[in-house]
Amino acid sequence: MERAYLDHNATTPLSTAARDAMIAAMDQLGNPSSVHSDGRKARQVLDVARDSVAALMKCKPESVTFTSGATESNNTVFAHAQAMDWPIFISATSHASVLDCAIEAKRIPVQPNGVVDLEQLAKACEGHETPFIVSIEGVNNETGVIQPITEIAQIVQAHDGYLHVDAAQVPGKINIDDISTWGDVVTLSAHKFGGPKGVGATVLPGCRLTALNAAIRGGGQERRNRSGTENLVGIAGMGAAAANVGERLGDIARQESLLGQIVARISATPSAEIAGDASVRAANTLSIMHPSLTSEISLIRFDLAGVSISSGSACSSGKVSKSHVLDAMGYASDLVQSGLRISVGLETLQSDVDRFIAVWDSLFDVGTVHQEARAVA
Ligand code: PMP
Repeated sequence: MERAYLDHNATTPLSTAARDAMIAAMDQLGNPSSVHSDGRKARQVLDVARDSVAALMKCKPESVTFTSGATESNNTVFAHAQAMDWPIFISATSHASVLDCAIEAKRIPVQPNGVVDLEQLAKACEGHETPFIVSIEGVNNETGVIQPITEIAQIVQAHDGYLHVDAAQVPGKINIDDISTWGDVVTLSAHKFGGPKGVGATVLPGCRLTALNAAIRGGGQERRNRSGTENLVGIAGMGAAAANVGERLGDIARQESLLGQIVARISATPSAEIAGDASVRAANTLSIMHPSLTSEISLIRFDLAGVSISSGSACSSGKVSKSHVLDAMGYASDLVQSGLRISVGLETLQSDVDRFIAVWDSLFDVGTVHQEARAVA
């Protein structure tokens, strides 16, 4: 049985372009730091990838530091902030890789629609004598809620703070034309847009913050920003994936219409809720709740029926835990414990959506549900 993979926010399938670039890089002899011509050829693979990520982020290639992923990049940002003694403010719906390494940080609440409360943010930014840093996710990985980054950047910078945007879920999902207004440090993850797992980047696109303390020290690679011989194969894959983000953006309308069919079915199910329903959201992501379900059992039902979805963020232990994102949005606990995330992508087919809908219907007494829905309508 072919499975229906509806978990593109956890990771996307490796794109053909990324795979081809990685296969080519695998046989590339030479350490990119070596001065001989074999080393220079390896360096060229790095340069091509860096140019491609810089083009995506509309910044200079020197602004891009390759890392092992958004988790490492986020850790680096907060290690720097802590070393500098900067007060840290993070969105309450931040990813675990922000929450866990900025434990002392003040959490800025979100409104019930999942958008950061700008008034609370402005209050938090007031009256600091030293620089401070605010961290916001560009697109929330669980709900797809898009944060108003340009407005947030204006508030933060008006108070002389720095802004970190965790953009792991941004490339290929929303346009990043106005990256110049996107704050001071942006973190990326290749496997969320067709690249391989285990590679990402820290990007310093502006001129206010020009370097972070290196979290990994040694040979001084990546302009001393991140030591260790570069993951040439992974970076080559990330570069190729970055060059193909346009293809993903061009597919968004199709993805939206596929997901729209699921939205219609969920909306016709009494008591079902869509998180951040009224907010501007990434067109590929849907976070749903129903008080009569529990995430864990639903996930198993979907899995046994060949459908891969998630309860929220992918969890390293394989355990299903309560969503802090839905919690922060103020949903009642019977809804929070039922949260499911469906995320489609470039490779999603109509048959995947049909399979999801069939399993969703099977979770309920469909006859009753639809009769009730008609009665309500
Ligand atoms: N931030 C966000 C918003 C994410 O969705 C993820 C991945 N789930 C990460 C950070 C961590 O990325 P990586 O897997 O590259 O460490």
